[in-house]
Amino acid sequence: MNLIEINGLRKRYKDVEALRGFDLKVPEGTVCGFLGRNGAGKTTTLKILLGLVRPNGGSAQIFGLDCTDPAQSVLIRQRIGFVTENKDLYPYMTVGQTLRFTAGFFPKWRHDLAARYLKLFALPEDRKVTKLSKGNLSKLMLLLSMARGAELLILDEPTDGLDPAVTEEVLAALVDLAAQEGVAIFFSSHQLQEVEQIADRVCIIHEGRAVLQEELDELRSSYRLIQMVVEQGIEDSALAFTGVEKINREGRVISVLVSQNAEQVIETARARQATSIDVRPVGLKEIFLTAVRTQA
Ligand code: ATP
Repeated sequence: MNLIEINGLRKRYKDVEALRGFDLKVPEGTVCGFLGRNGAGKTTTLKILLGLVRPNGGSAQIFGLDCTDPAQSVLIRQRIGFVTENKDLYPYMTVGQTLRFTAGFFPKWRHDLAARYLKLFALPEDRKVTKLSKGNLSKLMLLLSMARGAELLILDEPTDGLDPAVTEEVLAALVDLAAQEGVAIFFSSHQLQEVEQIADRVCIIHEGRAVLQEELDELRSSYRLIQMVVEQGIEDSALAFTGVEKINREGRVISVLVSQNAEQVIETARARQATSIDVRPVGLKEIFLTAVRTQA
């Protein structure tokens, strides 16, 4: 079953078309990284899912409930965790008081998880929230969303602005929550290596449309970079197979990025008496750069 299902989503802000028929499926039990360049439409999508922005067209559902319907959106928000602006915190409260206060609003509050992540994040229980460092404040906000007993976490750049050590703590806690509690996570990020580290699925959005949605394992196993040296050259039209994502040329070296049909590219190179053919797997970075470039 898909926890999140978005079809043909459209959002226009005056003269900006932020979403132009965006589709997304997030199956249950997955950690899905949401990638895209600045202004691609990630925050707009997340805000629509949280019922904070109304789309101009298409549909967005979580747990089969309509995110754009105010009554159903309330039901959705009772079952998901998300991080709000820290204006929700009361400055005169300590970390411990904030936890106890917030717990009162959530019937499924997990005191065990709150205690676990309080310890894991090494948060000072007796310190006023106004006296927390930026990293500790981010960890507290995340903890408040993680202890709600939610089935799904929706996070907008959860490690944005955090130092590498705090980033590692936050990523470890998210992996722990997904692995131990089966909580699904949908998070936007600009950090490709952190997506590779914790996600098992990735969605890439470009100019308001989904350009790639795939399991990371599938990406790793199906994408290949084929580099070949062909004295007589090969024209692009001879390599126009389905799954050829990008062709680069540097002198006599031709580099071809493929998502499928690698064998046909290799066969073509052999038929043209290639003097060398090298095939290797590619990382998320090359795939991302390809995905946001080919559709431009
Ligand atoms: P970033 O990675 O930089 O946070 P993003 O992928 O989250 O970007 P969005 O914030 O969803 O992108 O913005 C998508 C487009 O919509 C951008 O062109 C942005 O300038 C525009 N936009 C977003 N919010 C508004 C708004 N309230 N009014 C007008 N334009 C907006």
